[in-house]
Amino acid sequence: MKVHEFQARELLASAGIPVPKSTMVTSVDAAHTAATGLFSSGSTMVVVKAQVHAGGRGKAGFVKVVKSAAEARAASAFMLGNRMHSPQTPPEGLPITRLLVADAVDIVHEYYAAVLVDRAAGTNTLITSAEGGVEIERVAATNPGAILRVVLDPLLGLQPYEARATALGLGFRGAALPQAVSVLTKLARLQQETDASVVEINPLVLTPPSAAHPDGEVLAIDAKFSFDDSALFRHGDIAAMNDPAEENPAEVRAKAHGLSYVALDGNIGCLVNGAGLAMSTMDIVKLHGGEPANFLDVGGSASEAAVTEAFRIILSDSRVEGVLVNIFGGIMQCDRIARAIVQAARNIGFTVPLVVRLEGTNVREAQEILREASVDIPTMATATDLADAAAKIVAAVSQPSPKRC
Ligand code: GDP
Ligand code: MN
Repeated sequence: MKVHEFQARELLASAGIPVPKSTMVTSVDAAHTAATGLFSSGSTMVVVKAQVHAGGRGKAGFVKVVKSAAEARAASAFMLGNRMHSPQTPPEGLPITRLLVADAVDIVHEYYAAVLVDRAAGTNTLITSAEGGVEIERVAATNPGAILRVVLDPLLGLQPYEARATALGLGFRGAALPQAVSVLTKLARLQQETDASVVEINPLVLTPPSAAHPDGEVLAIDAKFSFDDSALFRHGDIAAMNDPAEENPAEVRAKAHGLSYVALDGNIGCLVNGAGLAMSTMDIVKLHGGEPANFLDVGGSASEAAVTEAFRIILSDSRVEGVLVNIFGGIMQCDRIARAIVQAARNIGFTVPLVVRLEGTNVREAQEILREASVDIPTMATATDLADAAAKIVAAVSQPSPKRC
């Protein structure tokens, strides 16, 4: 689960990492009021930022530093009135409904700092760079030497000497050094304690010297966090930050019905029981030259209503040109699936080819149900085994264009 920048800033602040003052707003008037408040309490610059689960906002014009409340009003009107297009948004862009109005700071340098679950290393890794502000993938591609990696001990986490070596390696000196060490240490602890898959500050900035901070101040001015969904049950405060508007609507509906659904890019909708069978179904579809439109595991004990809902979700995806049902009835009874197919045909209608492969508990009854209903479901074909099913559904849909590298 991802959270918005304003929520990530709250988590940073509660972990003791310095973050400029800010307010989240949902209207132009509220943005104007928030900016007025910041200017009258001493800010000379304010930044208006679209709150959306996609990066690249700066270049898209959805992060704007302003010098007056009137400018803040204009920037907010633009952001709330236009969809944002960036390399990280879908082609049609994303609507913006929330803004962050924050105290803006002068920047001497922008850094990158993240702690993430590193599957290759089998532990968490701290990744930092003195080339912050831009996407880390770009730094990795153009200047990999500018990235510092510390593979963390799974039990001890980030050690004080590692935090110091990293901060020194990034170029922090004088009174800025202990500030940077403190930020890195707290960030690593936050990642561990919240079961985050990634906590990223980009940019972490150094401000110009001031009376209070003669060597500048180290501040987080943008953050992206992502949490392990399976651990959310023990972080009620974080689970409550979920914004369903930012998620794929089909995935939200599926979750509400106890289905595991992940939308993919292909044209073959798959309805399968069991995550392992779903994975192997996707593999065999690909082996036959097809592209799955989704991963959908209806589970072992899904009701007829949930399975009908699964069909509704698959068929509501306009890219789906064919549906493959692959059920191995262990706990799940095949006749329940067969009844759901009949229900879905009745309630939604199958206009696209449907290939059904059923095996296991109550398969005879299931075949009987489908045989009786087959006149009403003219696009349905049955398959004898998984390879036969994959071959039939791939033949029934248009072929994906060859991938360019
Ligand atoms: P992103 O583009 O979605 O990652 O949004 P960021 O919040 O990282 O902002 C993009 C860029 O805008 C940053 O890298 C900064 O260069 C600039 N920016 C953001 N906030 C401030 C600020 O408070 N002061 C100044 N001077 N620049 C800022
Ligand atoms: Mn950023």
